Amino acid sequence: MSIYARIGNRYSRGSTIHQNGGASSRALSQPNSVHCNDMIQAPTACDIDPHFTDGDQRDMPGREEFAPAGMTAETSLQRLKKGNARFASGNTIHPNLDSTRRIETFNGGQKPFVTVFTCSDSRVPPELIFDQGIGDMFVIRVAGHVCGLHEVATVELGVERLNTPLLLILGHSKCWAVTAVATGLQMHGNVLQLREYIGPAVAKAQSRNPVMHGTELVQAAIEENVWKSIEDIFSRSQVVRELTRSGRLSVVGAIYDTEGGHVKWLGAHPEQSGLLSVRDD
Ligand SMILES: [Zn+2]
Repeated sequence: MSIYARIGNRYSRGSTIHQNGGASSRALSQPNSVHCNDMIQAPTACDIDPHFTDGDQRDMPGREEFAPAGMTAETSLQRLKKGNARFASGNTIHPNLDSTRRIETFNGGQKPFVTVFTCSDSRVPPELIFDQGIGDMFVIRVAGHVCGLHEVATVELGVERLNTPLLLILGHSKCWAVTAVATGLQMHGNVLQLREYIGPAVAKAQSRNPVMHGTELVQAAIEENVWKSIEDIFSRSQVVRELTRSGRLSVVGAIYDTEGGHVKWLGAHPEQSGLLSVRDD
């Protein structure tokens, strides 16, 4: 019997155990998945986004599928905060993981409420740390969330094509990519290319905190690297700039604590208005 047959079929049978998740001990003692579909209910009338109407959708070329009706950047952010609070406290509900959700998203298409750009680190799985499920989050992951052409293109898919009202750039503690650049660790092969993207963030952290070194400097560089990714996205994507200027999109940064499980929210880039003033092509 293959490894997939022994392990993967647990999912299709609906008896996943969610081991190594925020509520691993509870999940392991109750082998059947704990499912909850309440996360996909439509928001209340007070959550309706005044910036977004059906007319806007029709006017936007390339927009074929849409975030859940009425979801705004604020309601998306609150949903992430609540999910992370459940995860960090060990009270996860593992929403939207059952066959009903699979069928719903297969037939109705994906309608994620957030686009997340984060690191590939195996300790930072977005759907788990925000306690979300299938079709909830459009995720781009690459070491150190460095922002090249393919990453920007995928971000645009999330915020324009899928119309998520929120774009989250998520750094994390103990990021190897940032640590390697900040501490001069030996790198070889194509990994060296990470320096090109992360180096300026480390340099900025050093210039702003000249007395810092070691772990403190790495922590500062991790935050600067979040800002750097946001700067790169705004710099390279006219689509993201236009959506942000029009109020249809909010772009925020955050840092995930890989030990405590909590997300520290950084908000919008402090120089966002300047970044948005870049002349469009
Ligand atoms: Zn990382």
